[in-house]
Amino acid sequence: MISYYSTNRHAPQVALDQALLQGQAPDRGLYMPTHIPPIATEVRKNMHRLSYPDLAVRLLSPYAQGVFSDDELGDICHDAYNFDVPVEHVCDNRHLLRLDRGPTASFKDFAARFMGRALGRLVARQGRELLILTATSGDTGSAVAHAFSGVPNIRVLVLFPIDEVSDRQRKQMTTLGGNVATVAVDGKFDDCQALVKRAFSDADLQGLNLSSANSINIGRLLPQSVYYAYAAAQVSDVASGEPVVVCIPSGNFGNLMGGMLARQSGLPVARFIAATNINDEVPRFLASGQYQKIEPSLAAISNAMNVGHPSNLARLVDLYGGHIDERGAMLQQPDMERLREVVFGISIDDAQTRQTIRDVYAAHNALLEPHGAVGWAGLDAFLNTEEGAAFHKTPCVSLETAHPAKFPDEIVALLGISPDLPRSLQGLEELPESYGNMSTDYAAFKALLQREYAG
Ligand SMILES: *Cc1c(COP(=O)(O)O)cnc(C)c1O
Repeated sequence: MISYYSTNRHAPQVALDQALLQGQAPDRGLYMPTHIPPIATEVRKNMHRLSYPDLAVRLLSPYAQGVFSDDELGDICHDAYNFDVPVEHVCDNRHLLRLDRGPTASFKDFAARFMGRALGRLVARQGRELLILTATSGDTGSAVAHAFSGVPNIRVLVLFPIDEVSDRQRKQMTTLGGNVATVAVDGKFDDCQALVKRAFSDADLQGLNLSSANSINIGRLLPQSVYYAYAAAQVSDVASGEPVVVCIPSGNFGNLMGGMLARQSGLPVARFIAATNINDEVPRFLASGQYQKIEPSLAAISNAMNVGHPSNLARLVDLYGGHIDERGAMLQQPDMERLREVVFGISIDDAQTRQTIRDVYAAHNALLEPHGAVGWAGLDAFLNTEEGAAFHKTPCVSLETAHPAKFPDEIVALLGISPDLPRSLQGLEELPESYGNMSTDYAAFKALLQREYAG
């Protein structure tokens, strides 16, 4: 059976249910599986024929053994993955994997919907209540709120910075009601995150049974390994080991870590391209071996990737034999040579991002939004390097992580067209909103938690 250890190595190994419920390990490390199970031969052979939820069950089953039966996992995955996962051919051997067809139109739905259902089952077994506390700069909050909406015995409280989320992003969270409450904080995303972090470490609030569902939770990572296999099987002969190149627009690097798990389990990924916006601390680390976080993070139009110190770097470093703590101190350098053989880092600025949206639309009639455009530009840049020349015939997949309709102003300004709203975003305008308001004062936040959620 697979257990989960902390990247800081000072916490006991736990089973999947504990790892899901705790989120972060008690020593502030991140949980990693003790063993990465190889993809079964029978699954590998039939991968291109399996539906998305069926493939998810096959691949996640070894990780969940002893905690969720295959039947339970089947229910979770079929219920969670009831939307399309298009692999779109764009040109030559290049494809787009559109991960934007879930209810909140971002790839975060893949992880959040799995987490919502998995945690829902765990609390039902234990007969206790859980409060999911999340700070968001936009996409995570709505994905988590939707995923947990209506789950019995779980309540959700989302804190968002009042001036930093778009109207559409806010309405995706504030119109749900029921077990989902939202509070607009008169501050920045960092203030929201600081309030949440302090609540987690506040001994007075232990009785509230808090959980985070943020991207440090291993439950967010595991389901993000599935679409790599799904997409690879559509574009290459995975069963006979034909390699693929995959490009991932990256911020907190949870998405890349999902891909790394899939590769470790035998998926023939020849190279991952980790494309960032101007928050280029990871590409610089890959190039120089020196890690320096960017604080505060820089603003770019691909705003969900404005991360100056990605928490999942701890997992990537761990996978290659190193150790970095949560503040960004490199206590043990990973094997950089091996890491570079697998991950190519590249930073794309806003001007390149915008030009890519224009070029790809003009040349191939394919619509990108800023995050996906960073990815596409990163793939292009890689293929134009000396190293990349070896991959000109290799099938390539670039990830599109959000729906273009989430960025209407940018798309209209660049292309003069207004992207069609997906069904999930239609009708939001008419729904009544409800949310609280708060300052950045911790005492007031604590009082609210004790008043509304204790007992
Ligand atoms: C969160 C997010 C990303 C970054 O993903 P990480 O796993 O944090 O690297 C990229 N694009 C969009 C649209 C996102 O919401």
